[in-house]
Amino acid sequence: DLPEVAITPVSPLLLSDTIGAERSTGLDAALGGLREALGSRRVIHVNSTRSGGGVAEMLHRLLRYTRGSGVDARWFTIEGDPLFFDVTKRLHHMLHGHDAPGPSLDPCAAAHYAAISERNARALLRTVRPGDVVNLHDPQVAGLTIPLRRAGARVVWRCHIGTDTHNQHTAQAWEFLRPFLDTADAYVFTRAQYVPDWLADRDITVMPPSIDPLSAKNRPLEPGAAAAIVTRLGLRAGPDVRGPVGYRRGDGSTGSVGGTPVRLVSMAPPPADAPLVVQISRWDPLKDMAGVMASFADGGGGLDAAHLALVGPDVSGVSDDPEGGRVFDRCVELWRRLPARARSRVHLVCLPLADPEENAVMVSAVQYQATVVTQKSIAEGFGLTVTEAMWKGRPVVASAVGGIRDQIHDGVHGLLLHDPADRADFVARTGSLVSGPQRARSLGEGARRRAGEHFLDDRQLRSQAALYSRLAA
Ligand code: UDP
Repeated sequence: DLPEVAITPVSPLLLSDTIGAERSTGLDAALGGLREALGSRRVIHVNSTRSGGGVAEMLHRLLRYTRGSGVDARWFTIEGDPLFFDVTKRLHHMLHGHDAPGPSLDPCAAAHYAAISERNARALLRTVRPGDVVNLHDPQVAGLTIPLRRAGARVVWRCHIGTDTHNQHTAQAWEFLRPFLDTADAYVFTRAQYVPDWLADRDITVMPPSIDPLSAKNRPLEPGAAAAIVTRLGLRAGPDVRGPVGYRRGDGSTGSVGGTPVRLVSMAPPPADAPLVVQISRWDPLKDMAGVMASFADGGGGLDAAHLALVGPDVSGVSDDPEGGRVFDRCVELWRRLPARARSRVHLVCLPLADPEENAVMVSAVQYQATVVTQKSIAEGFGLTVTEAMWKGRPVVASAVGGIRDQIHDGVHGLLLHDPADRADFVARTGSLVSGPQRARSLGEGARRRAGEHFLDDRQLRSQAALYSRLAA
């Protein structure tokens, strides 16, 4: 059998304090409708990993609520070998519009991909019954479509990746995937622009990702705790905080953060009253952490008294992402070469990943304590870091790429960088918010309203319920 991810059911009614009675009632009705449409059948999600990455994090949260509403929702992960995952990683980059090193996508690779997919499908079919709705996530599991359809399941394939500008790389990836995917009942994309032409007349749902306002990363954090955590991380001067920092959880119990050593590259912590500009991202070339640093070091535009924190996951030791280590090392190298004045205002932090709750609370504290949050990505499927900052009422300066454009209307919910390569524009816009607290506050309020209205989990749960109910009917 395939590994099943355990889900703790949580009542979706818990969201009502945040989303209000009307939305809560709508959510309850949608999930109730799904429960009825399904009868004794199930909704089964399948992807390639239970942790790490936005999809896994989102499935954990969404399935808790789905299960809490009485729907029999399950989650399985597939198994593959290194060649299989090299092929799917290459497909992933290509669907983002970039080429990547990796195995050639020839008939031999397709045969291997098909064989692994068949094996996973056989294991999954011990659980799946005719009429079950199966939601497959991303290229790794696209190959399960045909065997599942043959067994009488209703199959949804969801693509969490995409680019607005289709090119020869996206074309090559679709050519590979199309024979596997052609017969799915329905397809889900993050943006309408990501849908390839060959799927144009199919059953398509556009469904943006969302965040859970009750998760460790997104629920309120007392300002005192957030400030102490940021001091502990070395991003604020303050009393010497060496040990773990306590904070209160939503259920009233206390947790602690900072027991694990944090990797910090910095000359000295920023003064307590210095404005803090923050970008939190994986160490990935497309997030352009190095470009943020170089722009910041150019100076001017109201940024002269500000400090910059570039925050990402720990890349040392067991990390399975060699690219992350390389990008971080390159940032450290650039930092060393900055003029001393600029270097004293730039800080690089790697957050430990061993304890997911600790990591989430650290990310949250940095977001809460930021004067301005930036996301100067070169490409972005959606950009959950932007959503998380918006929900915390932070003013955001972000590239007008991919799903960021769906989140921020320029000048209303944050500021957009129309050309992410334009360093002077980055400095001017970020600086204008650092030196204009009133504007920053009003953009932060707009951001909070926008995220609260469109990008919390109830929106996605309702959209899923509508789709699954239709397929189960
Ligand atoms: N993130 C994290 N720790 C880090 C850096 C990032 O937990 O050190 C989280 C971040 O809060 C967000 C996710 O990773 O929830 C990144 O999602 P996003 O859509 O922004 O980008 P992706 O990494 O999927 O390209």
